[in-house]
Amino acid sequence: MELEGKTAIVFGVANKRSIAWGITQKLHQGGAKLTLAYQERFLRGIEKLLEEEGIDDALLVECDVTQEGAIESVFAQHQEKWGRLDQVVHSIAFAQREDLEGDFTATSRDGFRLALEISAYSLIPMGREAKKYMTEGGSIIAMTYLASQRVVPSYNVMGSAKAALEHIVRQLAFELGAQGIRVNAVSAGPLQTVSARGVASFSDIRTIYPEKTPLKRNITVEEAADASYFLLSDKASGITGQVLFVDSGFCIMAGM
Ligand code: NAD
Repeated sequence: MELEGKTAIVFGVANKRSIAWGITQKLHQGGAKLTLAYQERFLRGIEKLLEEEGIDDALLVECDVTQEGAIESVFAQHQEKWGRLDQVVHSIAFAQREDLEGDFTATSRDGFRLALEISAYSLIPMGREAKKYMTEGGSIIAMTYLASQRVVPSYNVMGSAKAALEHIVRQLAFELGAQGIRVNAVSAGPLQTVSARGVASFSDIRTIYPEKTPLKRNITVEEAADASYFLLSDKASGITGQVLFVDSGFCIMAGM
């Protein structure tokens, strides 16, 4: 059990399809003790998943990252229960439906602010809290997507958010590095989750991967979770500030 004696906070489990749930399963199998920060409406489903998985000691803390003090409260309650912190998973994103279709120029000020606040800014207070509690070093990961660098139709404001998120990963990697805290991102190919269904062009995007990628298929949540687990573990001890693509090789192809 590679992560025996370690503890992790996971933000972003909504249901069994969530990438964060895939990562939670891996962390549990590795022996880590867990805190799950969840949005209220998902609580019953999460409790059921934990029961099915045989995870009976996870700390559950409600957290809407737009609420002042909510992230800080998750970290404080985690520390209170587990007494140490080794890993943080940021697997959350949100944009209003109307900002994930149509013209990018129609993005409203409020829509932009909300998407960037939830999907990118939230990693900054998480880094601040991790700095406080990760006294023996640690690892933080965030989930991103290629639309940070390329134009993916309909992804619109979420592309701006992912660009900001990846920049924040590098800034945090720089600031927290001296404390032995690594910060990286996993850039996953399209996966059928609740969030992804909000993107108007999502099913079209998924049909491209079996045709155009080197691996000729879409990825699985388990593959995204395995790469995340690697970055969270000491096996990645020399890696920080990076974006690791888990996308069947899509990002290397020209002319897409
Ligand atoms: P998901 O819907 O299962 O997870 C999104 C999570 O964000 C949910 O758990 C939700 O509770 C949380 N969230 C939204 N608003 C929040 C708020 N205000 N406060 C706290 N939590 C909030 O979908 P997912 O696909 O597993 O998404 C996880 C991450 O992976 C996101 O950052 C997403 O952009 C990224 N990602 C997804 C894909 C994909 O195709 N599914 C591809 C690349 C990257």
